[in-house]
Amino acid sequence: MLFRPGPPPGGPGLVFVACRALSERGGAVSDTTEIDRRWMREALRLAEAALGYDEVPVGCVIVHDGRAVGRAHNQRETLRDPTAHAEMIAITQAAEALDAWRLSGCTLYVTLEPCTMCTGAMILARLDRLVYGASDPKGGAVASVFRLLDEPRLNHRIPVTAGVMAEECGAVLSEFFRAKRAAGMPEASADA
Ligand code: ZN
Repeated sequence: MLFRPGPPPGGPGLVFVACRALSERGGAVSDTTEIDRRWMREALRLAEAALGYDEVPVGCVIVHDGRAVGRAHNQRETLRDPTAHAEMIAITQAAEALDAWRLSGCTLYVTLEPCTMCTGAMILARLDRLVYGASDPKGGAVASVFRLLDEPRLNHRIPVTAGVMAEECGAVLSEFFRAKRAAGMPEASADA
């Protein structure tokens, strides 16, 4: 794996407070906490780092007890792997860091609404909470195209907070695809 950050940096004395009460899917955010914004800023920095590898800029951070245990950006092109989405890489890192496949107590921050694969992986990981930035009208599996987390036949519930720093998260994607189109790749689409 080419992008394997070393030990995740500890938070600057910030205690993560899980906000379980909010479950907003596709709606406006009414209670974006400063902690959520802080971690989303880090996910956004990772998304911006992906630009250096000509990757679709999506970044993800997984937080456990106020500490990042997974940090990744999309690496589909670099690894030539259709499953190398930011969330999948971060989930694997978090499982290694916690030495457990069950990511109880973890919150996943990602700049773009997760796809079916990543949403499925979050359910399998028994993730505690999901926070995402921009919606993905083409492939989002939380609110936009599918609503997998609302599926009553699945036995794990994940509270969701949507739209945290959505504008900034979406802007980096829009700019990436605008540049692709300008470079003569009209087929470029937001299939992160
Ligand atoms: Zn995905």
